[in-house]
Amino acid sequence: MVKYKEKKRLYDIRYRKRNREKIIKEKKEYYKKNSKKILKHHKKYYLKNKEEINRKNKEYREKNKDRIKKRNKEYREKNKDKIKKHHKKYYQNNKEKINARTKKYHQENREKFTKLNRLWANKNKDKIKKYEQNYKDKRTKEELSEIRNKRYQKNKIKELARQKARHYIKIPKNQLCEDCGIELATERHHEDYSKPLEVDLLCKKCNMKRERKYD
Ligand SMILES: [Zn+2]
Repeated sequence: MVKYKEKKRLYDIRYRKRNREKIIKEKKEYYKKNSKKILKHHKKYYLKNKEEINRKNKEYREKNKDRIKKRNKEYREKNKDKIKKHHKKYYQNNKEKINARTKKYHQENREKFTKLNRLWANKNKDKIKKYEQNYKDKRTKEELSEIRNKRYQKNKIKELARQKARHYIKIPKNQLCEDCGIELATERHHEDYSKPLEVDLLCKKCNMKRERKYD
């Protein structure tokens, strides 16, 4: 009996080795055909054994940290294009949600990001230079001048509105900030630069807060 069992085991191993491709293919087909059923089953099983599974997974991850890291890295390098494509598709489908979330996160962690950006920029000066050169090389002269012109026009409207407001709107001496009501107002804030004389009188801090909203 023991002999038979051992024989069978060896035979199975050999069989699997020889027919590896075939078995994988069959399995794949089976999964494809029954994916809903299998997923349902997995889900049920997971819900039933949630805590144990999570604990085991955690243990496994902690034990094999380096191995997992290496494997992930290898996978990412091997499937660069695939991953990129997948991310792109996901982004296209969830654009608004993602952008809103990113914006909120940035606003809430602004100081952290400014610091990180500065650090990164200091470390990667050459990279930035190269990127800027590449950006210029890729665009025609007309495109570049149009971009510059747009930026100039935008700044010009801003600057003119500010000048006009500075000239026509005097801030009363004891004027309190319209937002916080605590600090003295020192700045004229435009919600809309096309209406240069419509300003809110704010303290420096609150003005900065408002400007951030429109980044
Ligand atoms: Zn204020």
